Amino acid sequence: MDLSSTIVYAKGGFRAYEDAKVGLLTHGLQYGTGCFEGIRGYWDAAERELSLVLLRDHYDRLALSAKILMMDLPHTTDELVDLTVDLVKRNGFETNIYIRPCLYKSAEDVGVRLHNVPSEFAIIPIPFTTYLDPHKGMKVCVSSWRRADDTMAPPRAKITGLYVNSALAKTEAVMNGYDEAILLSHDGHVAEGSAENLFLVRRGVLYTPDPSQNVLEGCTRKAIMDIAAGEFGLQIVERSIDRGELYSADEMFFTGTAAGIAYIESVDHRTVGNGQMGPVTKRLGEFYSRVVTAKEPRYRDWITPVYKDAKVSSSR
Ligand code: PMP
Repeated sequence: MDLSSTIVYAKGGFRAYEDAKVGLLTHGLQYGTGCFEGIRGYWDAAERELSLVLLRDHYDRLALSAKILMMDLPHTTDELVDLTVDLVKRNGFETNIYIRPCLYKSAEDVGVRLHNVPSEFAIIPIPFTTYLDPHKGMKVCVSSWRRADDTMAPPRAKITGLYVNSALAKTEAVMNGYDEAILLSHDGHVAEGSAENLFLVRRGVLYTPDPSQNVLEGCTRKAIMDIAAGEFGLQIVERSIDRGELYSADEMFFTGTAAGIAYIESVDHRTVGNGQMGPVTKRLGEFYSRVVTAKEPRYRDWITPVYKDAKVSSSR
């Protein structure tokens, strides 16, 4: 990735990516003691506007992750929203983007702990390249790796070190010829994908693992549940889900900031429905696309426009 002209926010100011380095002994690098977010911005060429999606939800979740890791975010959510808009403007992006805020333990010394370690905050915006192709069904497998349990390190926090769990599962899946993995929890119930929440549709009802199933409480997950209930009157059931239920779903899809709404074609070699994108997934996906590209006026407060009305953004 060419980052030579990227401007980032780091160490309290705006600077060139190349001037914002971390040292080899940085605590967050050595021990995984950091937390982060991934935020999308959708470029509308006709309107010449860049819409940042669910900024407040992401910064609220970052604050929660920070608290769990005993770190303080150096800014309020309002300040972070303004800072992010300012940073994106300085880069002058006219393309889809991905924004990576991160808070990490910055001490350069040896000693694993959470207490009495200083931290640093940074925001890195990059042009977005497609993570998963939304038009292509995904072939997934149940991973041989289990999702980290809350009793080990809480998956509801977006902790850098926890992504070893995701990376093991993703690489195993891809090297075995699949597109993505579904991780089960230690007790055998379905948790989530390596970087996505999971939804099943059966007889018109939407099912997803509840937040106590070792999942990240995804911003897209909540958005899709709000849309499903509010726009389409769908019944949503949050509960523990058995592996066998994956094989009996009519439709199944992942949600995530990077992934968007990605439909699952098969799981463990069992075709989901007829292997095509199902009608519920299609309706939800199309509506969500309209929301994130600022085409649904009633959902305008989910997005923050960068180049005009930069101050308009509110929480759900
Ligand atoms: N689960 C995990 C483990 C993730 O990394 C992500 C991506 N942030 C998600 C779920 C989806 O969350 P969100 O919709 O907030 O991007």
